[in-house]
Amino acid sequence: MTIPEVIGAIQPLREAAGSSVPGPIGAVTTDSRSVEPKGLFVALPGERVDGADFVEEAFARGAIAAIVSEAGAKKVPGALARTRPVFVVRDPVEALGDLARAHRLRHRRVPLVGITGSSGKTTTKDMLSCLLTRSRRVLCNPGNRNNLIGMPLALLALSDEHDAAVLEMGTSAPGEIVRLSGIAAPDIALITNIAPAHLAGLGSMEGVAREKGDLFRALPANGVAVVNATDLRVVREAARCAAEKVYYGVPMNDFSGRILSMSDAGMRIAIRTPAGEFRSSIGVAGEHHLMNALAATALAFTLGMRPDGMEEGFAAFSSVPGRFHASPLRGGGLLLDDSYNANPASSEAALRSLAALSRGRRTVVVFGDMLELGESSPASHFRIGHLAASLRIARLFAFGKEAAYAAHGAREGGMDPSAVVHVEDREALREAVRRFVSEGDVVLVKGSRGMRLDEVSSDIREDWA
Ligand code: ADP
Repeated sequence: MTIPEVIGAIQPLREAAGSSVPGPIGAVTTDSRSVEPKGLFVALPGERVDGADFVEEAFARGAIAAIVSEAGAKKVPGALARTRPVFVVRDPVEALGDLARAHRLRHRRVPLVGITGSSGKTTTKDMLSCLLTRSRRVLCNPGNRNNLIGMPLALLALSDEHDAAVLEMGTSAPGEIVRLSGIAAPDIALITNIAPAHLAGLGSMEGVAREKGDLFRALPANGVAVVNATDLRVVREAARCAAEKVYYGVPMNDFSGRILSMSDAGMRIAIRTPAGEFRSSIGVAGEHHLMNALAATALAFTLGMRPDGMEEGFAAFSSVPGRFHASPLRGGGLLLDDSYNANPASSEAALRSLAALSRGRRTVVVFGDMLELGESSPASHFRIGHLAASLRIARLFAFGKEAAYAAHGAREGGMDPSAVVHVEDREALREAVRRFVSEGDVVLVKGSRGMRLDEVSSDIREDWA
């Protein structure tokens, strides 16, 4: 992109000095420390630091131009603003999105997959990436770059060298998916599932469904919606878009599969596609990950891949620490570290997978609050506790204010009250878990990221790995 093209995309509020610099701009960044020569610095107002304080540093590092807000512009030294292209915009985050959109339109021929959903976005994206990178160059955004800042920044790295782009999109407030898909212009879209998550921001399950459904509705008429046929809310959102649909889930669908066997190291799966069946080993276990594998297969197929080659792709996949990541423990035990995040659907999936993997071993669950559930929180926690009881979990450590309802649910479900421990103090939890876990246990650690249960996973690894 050139400076005139940048101006066309972001529509600055007023003319800036020095805008006639010729040639293409370098990388776009919001971090002044990573400005490259000829790069474009977007000064975002942050919670802790204000990017506008670093405009001078960005130019010193070789930036070709900067984008600031009205408020930020007041911090830019006058001498700099009079001589260099410092573009003032109403909202730098919006300008960043506009830039990414313009960039994407310049690379329109690269097929782009958009992925959203309540859980499984990162896992599915990583699986798809493993499938595709065997034969193609793929741009992916890292999982934590799925919002209105991170996704556009990742998308700005798209080039003609790429054969495909796979972008995950997160949302916590209405309108974010409309904006993200407006920027990315997906050709193919996947909604992994629609479950209660971010209810505090999205209001209700209907609100969550509508928000995620906006990704399907952003598809062009010749686009493809990849639809989880086992999730009725996803199916309903698909019915509200004009694009072609491809279904996965159960045998009557275009893509279906089954788990052939499960072990501590993962599972063997068989997947049926319209062009035949294939079998593969994959380094994660559980029905929910089979669903993610089906979604990834359907996406790869839509992008032109066929079953040969998919087996190898799945074999290359391994789970990311914190996302139902299995590690063996001394004496035949297993740690299932799922501390990265939690909502009711992923917690249920994790508990069921734990039970499936236990094979006679003692099962221990460390379950922290699922945050941001709004008024459905007590009932959702209660249900998880109840499920733990029905799955005959040997010991439940419930951690946090909301988790008290899980402890209650477990006792109501018939779990021996002495096997249910509720604590609100982190150190007390760590201590109690350390004292209890012993040789051969299968331990699941699950909770919202804010509960920082990764510390408990580290303790267990330290003692037993
Ligand atoms: P996201 O990127 O949507 O947050 P991840 O792939 O990072 O999702 O997984 C987050 C959590 O959700 C993990 O604990 C994982 O075990 C669980 N999970 C992954 N896929 C699914 C699924 N299809 N259904 C339910 N839970 C899932």
